[in-house]
Amino acid sequence: MPFFVTNAEKNISFAIEHQCPQCGAPITLGEEALFFVCGFCRVRLCISQKGFPRYCFSLSPDAPKDAQVIYLPYWRFKGVRYACHFSGVIPRFMDISVLAMEKAPGQIPFSLGFRSQALPLKRISNETIGNFIRPTDFKTSILGHDRQARPPEKEKAPVFQEDIGETTSLIYSPFYIQQNHLFDGILNTRVQTIAPADTDINTLPLCRPAQETQFISGLCPDCGQDLEGRSDSLVLVCRNCQTLWQARGNRLGKIRYGSARPKHPDDVMIPFWKMKADITPIEMDSYADLVRMGNLPKALQAKWENQTLYFWAPAFKLSPKFFLKLNTRLAIAQPDPALEKKIRKNIHLPITLASAEAVQSIKLTLASLIRPLEDRLPLLAQASVVPGSLGLVFLPFEPRHHDYHNPDIGLTIDKNILALSGNL
Ligand SMILES: [Zn+2]
Ligand SMILES: [Zn+2]
Repeated sequence: MPFFVTNAEKNISFAIEHQCPQCGAPITLGEEALFFVCGFCRVRLCISQKGFPRYCFSLSPDAPKDAQVIYLPYWRFKGVRYACHFSGVIPRFMDISVLAMEKAPGQIPFSLGFRSQALPLKRISNETIGNFIRPTDFKTSILGHDRQARPPEKEKAPVFQEDIGETTSLIYSPFYIQQNHLFDGILNTRVQTIAPADTDINTLPLCRPAQETQFISGLCPDCGQDLEGRSDSLVLVCRNCQTLWQARGNRLGKIRYGSARPKHPDDVMIPFWKMKADITPIEMDSYADLVRMGNLPKALQAKWENQTLYFWAPAFKLSPKFFLKLNTRLAIAQPDPALEKKIRKNIHLPITLASAEAVQSIKLTLASLIRPLEDRLPLLAQASVVPGSLGLVFLPFEPRHHDYHNPDIGLTIDKNILALSGNL
């Protein structure tokens, strides 16, 4: 049974059926969609999700009409696992689904597999009929998965690892009971040979997945103009009053940002999260601390002792290797350009990576920088990262033949790895 999809090309996205809250039209969107314009009534809407999204597959239309439907929970995780070894940080793309039940009858599929990826998912509403089994929590379920899934080679256990997610959702798959047999409600086939003791699936704890998804108007809360963004943009822009917005609960919250002034109208503005963090118990407050811990080939300057250390992370999805490379390059460079609160006419890359994921990447940045790893990696594994100030910074990059280049930091980003498929 394939648990891991290690091929990043196979980037699977589920289709989700929504309903326009203004005109009721059915809308099918990719699971990354956070912003859309209704094709029927032209209303602009942001999707605000409290916690993780909960979806279900529809019961097969061929299932008996009087079937007693039970929805079994699966956790879905799509993202990158960064395993920190003494030999370095090894990223691996993961796209897994894992049964979120502790005591499940043995014949129930442990993962959703690939059979269902062609089917659209529905959000669970109060009208969805059936019993929903209460899921085990995400960490427990994933640990169970890790024990079952054998790594491809004899891999050594990492000192620590971070799973940086693009998508974490709970997916319910329908089953039904008929004549003491459990049937798969999508394939309409009998889940075979259930031991008599297992059949009493009715004793499992139930829950009612609440509807935690809200639609928010995609108009600027300050000036009422249309907000702009790509469908997967986490942050929307009002070009009229030069503000940035992100869905928080049932409203839009303003995002703090600054832009380094572009030198040319063709410069591409690339977004980064700039963060300060408390890394207890490691002394990592000043730039001098980083130079010492990283054994950087630089003569230590006295003024660095008082220079606050900032961590940086791209605010957009990027292949893991380059994500780490940019993090470390920016930590060493500590850019400090003059910032303005302006969204100029330049192309701005959409923000698709949340600040929480950027904070999670701080330990990975350090794992890539600190030396010697034998002494310091176990210490880092135990450390806790508490984010301090956090803000969004746009840095201008000059488009060249094969790359984007920022001469002030001496940073280039290859054009192949940065798909400029949309503006902010
Ligand atoms: Zn509509
Ligand atoms: Zn505005």
